[in-house]
Amino acid sequence: MKKPARNEGRAAATLSDPRWAAVLARDARMDGKFFYSVKTTGIYCRPSCAARPARPENVAFHATCADAERAGFRACKRCKPGQASLTAQRAATVAKICRLIETAETAPALTELAQRAGLSTYHFHRVFKAVTGVTPKAYAAAHRATRVRGALARGGKVTDAIFAAGYQSSSRFYEKSTALMGMTPSTYRAGAAGMNIRFAIGTCTLGHILVAASERGICQIALGDDADGLACDLQKRFPRATFIGGDKKFERWVAQVVGLVEAPARGLDLPLDVRGTAFQQRVWQALQKIPTGATATYTQLAQCRARRCQRLRRERAGCRHSMPSRGAHRRRFGRLPLGRGTQTDFAPAGGEG
Ligand SMILES: [Zn+2]
Repeated sequence: MKKPARNEGRAAATLSDPRWAAVLARDARMDGKFFYSVKTTGIYCRPSCAARPARPENVAFHATCADAERAGFRACKRCKPGQASLTAQRAATVAKICRLIETAETAPALTELAQRAGLSTYHFHRVFKAVTGVTPKAYAAAHRATRVRGALARGGKVTDAIFAAGYQSSSRFYEKSTALMGMTPSTYRAGAAGMNIRFAIGTCTLGHILVAASERGICQIALGDDADGLACDLQKRFPRATFIGGDKKFERWVAQVVGLVEAPARGLDLPLDVRGTAFQQRVWQALQKIPTGATATYTQLAQCRARRCQRLRRERAGCRHSMPSRGAHRRRFGRLPLGRGTQTDFAPAGGEG
């Protein structure tokens, strides 16, 4: 009777340990924070290991690999707990590629980026998207747009700004310019003379976020530690605009969209500026999908994504790798905190003249 009682005690200790929940969830965010060993196999693993879950009475937790080895356990060959975690490795690769995109004169081709990452094109695209939440193309576009907006704000010639930012032709740029700056390039350069700009400032996991839009589209999304600083920058960028703050409908719309897009756990290992750029781009894309002032719903965003995924699946029909099923989509969206109010919390922005 003694042995089963001891087992029960050990199982209870494991079950009540919060680290056990992380092991059951294969939570990659916990990788590196602790390790667990399994008495019956003599092996220790990182929390995200894909191995079949062990019986709780056989499990022990260790703070470091060295601790686990001192206790007589060998490293698992599958999850290789002694090496940097897969999440960290991927984040490092993606960060490296982001720097490459940022410093390139013109956007590098996907195949070139994949090669530099040491991955197949398909796999690279998938990893990049999983880590940042945007495609490499969208990341490059975000950078180019930031560059061109900066150059125009400094008052350079429009064509110079366009080419200096890495656009291949000015006609391609003009097609998209309203979507990229909410007005024509010349109006942008002229400090938004004659434009009414609505803005809202709120908080998100990356700090404060400011979203500003003219009647024609989004003209600024900025992240920062200081709400006043963000408002100041907006005024400096558009010195000739009329600002409209405290528009409840606009604030609600922005707060909702930002909340829908937020994925606080995403890209935690990435440099903060890369996370910021990717997040900004996701917000920008989402705001464009949902008309100004409309009530955004998860269903709308999910439908947009599902449609895009369907298209991608069709495009990759011949590919060996499987895409997530539609059900997987629904489950993922279903878990987001809808109804509890979004995490994003918008304080009324004071009207600024
Ligand atoms: Zn393992």
